[in-house]
Amino acid sequence: MKKYRDKGLKLTPQRLAILEYLDGNKSHPSAEDIYAAVRQKYPTMSFATVYNTLEALQKKGKVLELTIDNERRRYDPDISNHHHLICTGCRKIVDIDDIFTIAVPEDQQCSFEVTGNHIEFYGTCPDCKRKEA
Ligand code: ZN
Ligand code: MN
Repeated sequence: MKKYRDKGLKLTPQRLAILEYLDGNKSHPSAEDIYAAVRQKYPTMSFATVYNTLEALQKKGKVLELTIDNERRRYDPDISNHHHLICTGCRKIVDIDDIFTIAVPEDQQCSFEVTGNHIEFYGTCPDCKRKEA
């Protein structure tokens, strides 16, 4: 958890519990998911603590806020550049680890210097596909 302390984040036991839950978490949880998970160990945890911690982490660039799910914001402790794929049935989000680039044609760049991208793909996951069948 040293990487968080170095960024000047005040580490209360409750915040530590949130960070531990997020560390290496690949499920792209919502604030509600995090609250439900962490509250099992810290019954006095409030939703506001979860929300404020996520906001602080995001401001310090320690967590990504994903808007791919139009129902709720999702969080990703993996801040490396990667794309996402969401299931339109169950809202499961998976990483696309292969960093392929999609170039914006020169005449479409509106004089911008293009510095990055984040592509959101939609689909049906294997579980939902099975249920449909
Ligand atoms: Zn699904
Ligand atoms: Mn991700």
